[in-house]
Amino acid sequence: MSNNDFSMISRRKVLYKGTQVLVAMTVVVAGVRPACAKKKSAKDDFFFQEEPNDDGKKCTGCINFTAKETGQYGKDSGDCALLEGDVCNHCYCQGWTDKNSAGAKPGMAAGKTSP
Ligand code: SF4
Repeated sequence: MSNNDFSMISRRKVLYKGTQVLVAMTVVVAGVRPACAKKKSAKDDFFFQEEPNDDGKKCTGCINFTAKETGQYGKDSGDCALLEGDVCNHCYCQGWTDKNSAGAKPGMAAGKTSP
């Protein structure tokens, strides 16, 4: 075996080990939840209710609402950017944020109001 053969084996070992390290790092990174990822809140934390508030505010007027065809409330179901689980077209919570207000973005609560 020449010196070149040893250097090739060494390079192969280095590449092999390097690949193992990269794969291990990828697995670790993929399993770690980014610190900036938002966790949804429990419905009780926002006084969720299954009816509009006294002013007629309901999920369909909220920036956080996304309608969907199936779910806990059948065809009235939707997803909320703030709350865990299904919400509905006519539901309401204190995270309600007017979808027509300037600067409103999904995942924000404009402020707590009376339910
Ligand atoms: S934040 Fe409240 S009002 Fe808005 S979609 Fe979610 S549950 Fe409905």
